[in-house]
Amino acid sequence: MKEKKLTTGAGIPVSDNQNSLTAGERGPTLMQDHVLLNKLAHFNRERIPERVVHAKAAGAHGTFTVTGDITKYTKAKIFSEVGKKTEMFGRFSTVAGEKGSADTVRDVRGFALKFYTEEGNWDMVGNNTPVFFIRDAMKFPDFIHTQKRMAQTNLRSHTMWWDFWSQVPEALHQVTILFSDRGIPKGIPYMNGYGSHTYSFINAENERFWVKFHFKTKQGIQCMMQEEADRIVGENPDYHTQQLFEMIERGEYPKWTFSVQIMPEVEAENYRWNPFDLTKVWPHADYPLIEVGEMELSRNPENYFAEVEQSAFSPANVVPGISFSPCKMLQARIFSYADAHRYRLGANYESLPINRPKCPVHNYQRDGSMRFDGNSGASVNYEPNSFGGPKADPAYAEPPLKISGDADRYDQKRGVDDDYIQPGNLFRLMPADEQQRLIQNITSSLQKVSKELQEKMVKHFRKADKDYGDGIAKGVGL
Ligand code: NDP
Repeated sequence: MKEKKLTTGAGIPVSDNQNSLTAGERGPTLMQDHVLLNKLAHFNRERIPERVVHAKAAGAHGTFTVTGDITKYTKAKIFSEVGKKTEMFGRFSTVAGEKGSADTVRDVRGFALKFYTEEGNWDMVGNNTPVFFIRDAMKFPDFIHTQKRMAQTNLRSHTMWWDFWSQVPEALHQVTILFSDRGIPKGIPYMNGYGSHTYSFINAENERFWVKFHFKTKQGIQCMMQEEADRIVGENPDYHTQQLFEMIERGEYPKWTFSVQIMPEVEAENYRWNPFDLTKVWPHADYPLIEVGEMELSRNPENYFAEVEQSAFSPANVVPGISFSPCKMLQARIFSYADAHRYRLGANYESLPINRPKCPVHNYQRDGSMRFDGNSGASVNYEPNSFGGPKADPAYAEPPLKISGDADRYDQKRGVDDDYIQPGNLFRLMPADEQQRLIQNITSSLQKVSKELQEKMVKHFRKADKDYGDGIAKGVGL
């Protein structure tokens, strides 16, 4: 291989990258050693702001292949014909820990996918759970504070978790998943991904359907028991990251089946669950899964920072044929994800190679810090214009969304016990040994909090299922 010449960022050849320029052999360093100054100054700026949530992650490139025809529900080009392939990138994260934190902790996992379609990037920014702890974004920063660190000690706190959850019963469903076996996957290839929110599909006739997204692992769900996970935290904090990388290097490409649940628009009005409540699933018996495709991860990143750290996903990125729903959490994420990336990466983050669409991009946005492409050259930068600038196409207009009611702050509830039925159903479908481990996992956390909090939580668990609550009461000695 031909040896490459070392240069500065300006391309100037460097004569010595080992010894700084000093006044005499033992003398002080000269200001003139711009190679040294530049090296230190760049090093000081290597870190960009860490994501507030989902900071620790692994990522990989892959392909999505259509296996089932859903063109009657959506005109999205990615699904236009069976056999069609689309390049994608996935980022899989823990939520609460910092960028260097351990992988095998009990936590929800982020499941963020970017599909580079010919009509723009579709970002499917999901989790490995079909529901979430809260259904209104007003609670989000408070909830995340409970998962992070206490103001004085900088320690994590079981009291913060249970204090919050005891006052937010809609969290019980996600709490049950978190403390079940699925709370610690054996690895990224062994977990499912869910869009979690309800989205909409729009077909060629401009009809809207409500839709939920499911990515089911083809490797089978495999979980890690608490003792093993605790041991691996110490032995190899990057266990999941390493496992995914090495599997792909060996050619063992992980795969997921992509399926959807479809609800005709009118059924949402009278369905027994609010279909836009992020703390609820749509039971499979009501809305069975329809198989659509297969996702395969087959290529590791060349450079972690460029591809995984700089990747930026936003639920706002939906393509023609896919759209939003009134889910209050989704509505807030449409704003907050892009906002987080503007802070973390700058206004031009969508032009970074990992985020850049593979289709043409034409708009009137210009300038901004770190504009490293041609900034649209000499082309016209305002609209309306008479110089052939890009034009919006009304053919892409969505069908109007019917809205009714008074503007107000609603506590999104239907029945009084609405928040307990689905966590109870989940508990009841678990085999007895898994129920016991769930109870044990919750008990060992609740043992670290006050009796008053334990009592409050046992009441909630009993409302979901008597055996569930009784088991926890027994475990904490109430
Ligand atoms: P079903 O019996 O049709 O579905 C049960 C689903 O539960 C399974 O398909 C599986 O989802 C999931 N599941 C099984 N074991 C566990 C576990 N230990 N932890 C988490 N999820 C598990 O019943 P319903 O559709 O009526 O749902 C019953 C409950 O199942 C719900 O209240 C919800 O908690 C849970 N669930 C439902 C999902 C849905 O979309 N309907 C999705 C995931 C969970 P999967 O095949 O996706 O792994």
